[in-house]
Amino acid sequence: MWTIEKLTALCVEYCGRAGVEFNSPVTINPRTTNRLGGCYYEWTPRKGYFPTQIEFSKTFLSVASDEEVEKVVAHECAHYVTFALTNVRHEHDKVFRHYCKVIGTDNDKYALVVNSYAEHSDKVFKYAFYCSKCGKFVGGRSRACKMTKHPEWYKANCCQAPLNMIQNW
Ligand SMILES: [Zn+2]
Ligand SMILES: [Zn+2]
Repeated sequence: MWTIEKLTALCVEYCGRAGVEFNSPVTINPRTTNRLGGCYYEWTPRKGYFPTQIEFSKTFLSVASDEEVEKVVAHECAHYVTFALTNVRHEHDKVFRHYCKVIGTDNDKYALVVNSYAEHSDKVFKYAFYCSKCGKFVGGRSRACKMTKHPEWYKANCCQAPLNMIQNW
């Protein structure tokens, strides 16, 4: 299981490879549904951009393999290092990819396709809906709404069958 301590230790190691001291909070977000991780930053006229925090999705951490998690940690650390060393927003450009290489990761794209994450994409939603006939995942909602209160009012397009709703957390 990935804890804040374990993730922080990995951030210290990866950022250290680029000569950057990692000394920011690592957080695990229980609500993120559309990204695996993120590197937060701030901007001041004097300092420019600088990194303030690295965050990971709790759902991602719970379904991904260790190797997949390490790849995403490395990617976010490359953002951290890029902000710390250049004070410029580089997004996923050449400079960012350079620091990915320094850290030793090939995960330099905007969206990493994580196999186990894709397989569990239904679990990134607080409420997931499945076709009661064929079992297909038909959609999800991040928060309570009409559909979560009255799933019986809806039907799955695939089989025109009633929905089954699972609450994931
Ligand atoms: Zn990125
Ligand atoms: Zn169906």
